[in-house]
Amino acid sequence: MLDADFFRRWMTATAASVDREAERLTALDSPIGDADHGSNLQRGFTAVVAALEKEAPGTPGGVLTLAGRQLISTVGGASGPLYGTLLRRTGKALGDAGEVSAEQLAEAFRAGVDAVMTLGGAAPGDKTMIDALVPAVDALGDSFAAARTAAEEGAVATTPLQARKGRASYLGERSIGHQDPGATSSALLIAGLVEAAGE
Ligand code: ADP
Ligand code: MG
Repeated sequence: MLDADFFRRWMTATAASVDREAERLTALDSPIGDADHGSNLQRGFTAVVAALEKEAPGTPGGVLTLAGRQLISTVGGASGPLYGTLLRRTGKALGDAGEVSAEQLAEAFRAGVDAVMTLGGAAPGDKTMIDALVPAVDALGDSFAAARTAAEEGAVATTPLQARKGRASYLGERSIGHQDPGATSSALLIAGLVEAAGE
């Protein structure tokens, strides 16, 4: 079973990898965006970790809804409301249980990803974070490691796609040949699950 501590470790691990990879995320956001994805998420996840330390929510749902709120309020870019919705909706689906199973997390995360698609209007193949999140959700029932691999492969597979949503879509065909920054950071988020589980 996964308790609030697991979810706190998930957010902390993600914050650390976002810190490590911030320059790379921003570099990916240069040719097909406005070169702020790394700094956007760094600001957001720094606020998440600070809020979790201060408020110390006692349930998995509480950790994720607080994290989502922080991302929405601190990240300026499109990714803030989208990641914020992902975590808030996932947290809401987990309810107020003190511990949840991996299956419950997989189910709740699917609700979160669905909410991101509703909010942003992106479908798989549009060259967005959805291209990492949907394969991850599909593999999450197997294991966290399988979800991590699926997300990483999904992120790499955005390279030949033409963007149909977000800032990169303004470039039309010129968006082809670049890996999507948001799909790349989504793979970091999913990798955080493996770290939190100590696998
Ligand atoms: P901004 O584009 O406002 O500068 P960021 O650079 O932080 O925001 O995030 C860009 C990422 O957000 C993109 O790489 C893409 O993965 C994701 N994104 C943008 N628009 C959408 C959308 N409508 N649906 C899903 N993801 C999106
Ligand atoms: Mg940007």
